[in-house]
Amino acid sequence: MKTIGMLGGMSWESTATYYQLINDGVKSQLGGLHSAKMVLHSVDFAEIELLQRQADWPAMATLLGGAAKKLQSAGADFFMICTNTMHKIAPEICAKVDIPLLHIADTTAVQLIEDNVGRVGLLGTRFTMDDGFYQSHLFDKYGIEVLVPEEAQKASVHEIIYRELCQGQFLEASRKVYLDVIERLVQQGAQAVILGCTEIALLIQQTHTQIPLYDTTDIHARAAVSLILDNNE
Ligand code: GLU
Repeated sequence: MKTIGMLGGMSWESTATYYQLINDGVKSQLGGLHSAKMVLHSVDFAEIELLQRQADWPAMATLLGGAAKKLQSAGADFFMICTNTMHKIAPEICAKVDIPLLHIADTTAVQLIEDNVGRVGLLGTRFTMDDGFYQSHLFDKYGIEVLVPEEAQKASVHEIIYRELCQGQFLEASRKVYLDVIERLVQQGAQAVILGCTEIALLIQQTHTQIPLYDTTDIHARAAVSLILDNNE
């Protein structure tokens, strides 16, 4: 069994889900008392959120690059960044370590391709929806076209993530906002919608809509389990 390194705490609400999903996945395949070999570096999200508002991405790359190095020294065979947003600086973080990154957008793309989804809506933080790194990763590498919400809806989606979801609040009114945004993306031509923020599935699940949803936390965690249990090595 490989040891996974997790950069978490962004927010801890979703890292808790990762922890559960990865251990559940290993247990369901190996049975009994088995659980995942794991090293977790969990940050203080308030520090990260402040740096995001200041747009100090180099400082975040230093911080998370240093944390990734610690995962490597602690014995991680590969690592994952337990947030979509911070993949904006994935290249800078990867430059600090020799172990491979399990990239959240790669794992999502594999699933989309398997399901023949070529045009998809994307919900996430403003950074994920606006800054192009996610769209270009999906389009340039996999040819998947990504649609984002209109400006006002984008603002609501972003605000709800930081004011509520990352603080463990899940409100019916916000669920309604998200379902409206999802509906609109489909009207614009999306065949499915990526829940491209690791807390969104705490608010919206597939039972709330007929529109196919791609929960990045679940997809990323399942891909991690496959890699942990990769028996080829
Ligand atoms: N967990 C979120 C994401 O997947 C947002 C928190 C963050 O800014 O990292 O993007």
